[in-house]
Amino acid sequence: MNIVAIHPTVDSGYRATDASFGGGTLVCNCTSNAVKVKVKSDIAHNHACGCTKCWKPEGAVFSVVAVAPSDQIEVIENGDKLAVVDTSALIQRHACKQCGVHMYGPVERDHPFKGLSFIHPERFQDGGWAAPGFAAFVSSIIESGYQPSKMDGVRSRLKELGLEPYDCLSPALMDYIATWTAKKSGALAD
Ligand SMILES: [Zn+2]
Ligand SMILES: [Zn+2]
Repeated sequence: MNIVAIHPTVDSGYRATDASFGGGTLVCNCTSNAVKVKVKSDIAHNHACGCTKCWKPEGAVFSVVAVAPSDQIEVIENGDKLAVVDTSALIQRHACKQCGVHMYGPVERDHPFKGLSFIHPERFQDGGWAAPGFAAFVSSIIESGYQPSKMDGVRSRLKELGLEPYDCLSPALMDYIATWTAKKSGALAD
């Protein structure tokens, strides 16, 4: 049988092992002077993402990405190696200039995700973090060159892995964003 590769973490059947995960240290891929970023809280909304902007490990079709409160994130080692990939982007992805791993990406502008930072939990030194719960921006993998004719196989595999495939974010997150927008415009009362 031909298994459709998604991402090493999900392909290997990663399961969360620590119900009370309270954070950890993210490490980049450099063998010396690695960048280390401390996350002092649990993570939320961990998911596989097919967008073209997220950092992915070698050979992966999807990224695995989650959020944590930006005020719980601290660069503890070799922060001088970090640079923002695209300063005009909503997510200010801070990447290691040497190995390219995105270490954390805060949202700072006025947006429902303001105050949150996007991180890649596979970079945690230790396990225990929650497994991905859904797949976002699935159709976007085509933008990276994935064959459109193979998309049925990708979506079936994601479902088999328990990752419901969505072509934007999950309904819960889309509702959250729309609610924020409606309250801002006055269409919904606070
Ligand atoms: Zn690095
Ligand atoms: Zn993404």
